[in-house]
Amino acid sequence: MTIASDEADLADLVVARPEGLYCPPGDFYIDPWRPVERAVITHAHSDHARFGHRHYLASQAGATVLLSRLPGVSLQTLAYGERLDLNGTTVSLHPAGHVLGSAQLRIEHRGRVWVASGDYKLDPDPTCDAFEPVRCNTFITESTFGLPIYRWDPPQTVFDGVDSWWRHNAAEGRASVLFCYSFGKAQRVLASVDAGIGPIFCHGAVEPLNRAYREAGVRLPPVRLVSEIPLKDKVAFRQALIVAPPSAQGSAWLKRFGDYSDAFASGWMRLRGARRRRGVDRGFVLSDHADWPSLQTAIQATGAERVIVTHGSVEPMVRWLREQGLEAGAFETQYGDDTVEADAAGADETATTGSVPHEFHEATEQDAATDDTANAADPPSRA
Ligand SMILES: [Zn+2]
Ligand SMILES: [Zn+2]
Repeated sequence: MTIASDEADLADLVVARPEGLYCPPGDFYIDPWRPVERAVITHAHSDHARFGHRHYLASQAGATVLLSRLPGVSLQTLAYGERLDLNGTTVSLHPAGHVLGSAQLRIEHRGRVWVASGDYKLDPDPTCDAFEPVRCNTFITESTFGLPIYRWDPPQTVFDGVDSWWRHNAAEGRASVLFCYSFGKAQRVLASVDAGIGPIFCHGAVEPLNRAYREAGVRLPPVRLVSEIPLKDKVAFRQALIVAPPSAQGSAWLKRFGDYSDAFASGWMRLRGARRRRGVDRGFVLSDHADWPSLQTAIQATGAERVIVTHGSVEPMVRWLREQGLEAGAFETQYGDDTVEADAAGADETATTGSVPHEFHEATEQDAATDDTANAADPPSRA
């Protein structure tokens, strides 16, 4: 059957199916959103790693985190770079720099290579392995912050800002409450702030992730649970940094701290509208996703002639890719912008409001276009 095998040689290595992204020759799914027989998981954020699959394949580095979120699943792990044959395809996982254990999936079949990025960033992060560019013919990329207004300051600059905000509050005897996603962002913050400024506390939703990171060998400073402090004791928090999930915002739990200043750490803080709606004292622009220049750098480093965009600002990215002379398209997926982490972050410590603000879902192109600090209509940099 020469014709059939020629067709097989040209067929896409990944296609979109109702269950998720699917590799026909390898017969497996990538971060599927419906239950399947075999799922390769790029990372443990809840829009990518779901319950219900029969077999899971994920990175060794992310095993503790994945199992803390999906206890009891049938999990096979691969070290970064280790190769595995799946029905005649060769698959391997490569660091994506997004959160602990995050991986890009490389699929090789009959001389052709496709890479699915999952979520990724290029900025340094002490809590996970750095993004590794992987050469491929077709690159499947996220585009959460795929607009020219999204340009991050160097992480050290952001953490210097967090430190000076905390130091100032501590000097005035006021607690510093920092809202950020409980998985990934929280640990990155903990590992990056100056732990000498004062004691660090965290919300109960953050602690299981801290534990999984420590078990995986990531160094985090000593952190206490807010619930360890007697209810009426507010003095304990006066010099403290308190790391809490976004779902704790506006909750009665915050009364514990007496006088406090609050801040939010997220890439969405780049948008004035998102900052305003959040209603916090400070917004720190800190993301675990690639900004616009980094997306371009990462895509170019793959050498791919074809790029397929999965989620985020899909249209502008596809347009830019075509302007670069690349073949570009999109997959319809159910991956979010990690706001699901806000929902997932439980309120096991208290009475949260129960309602998760929706501004992050809304804070997209429209918001960017009305942001006065940048112009979304800027032509993309060709550099
Ligand atoms: Zn993610
Ligand atoms: Zn995602």
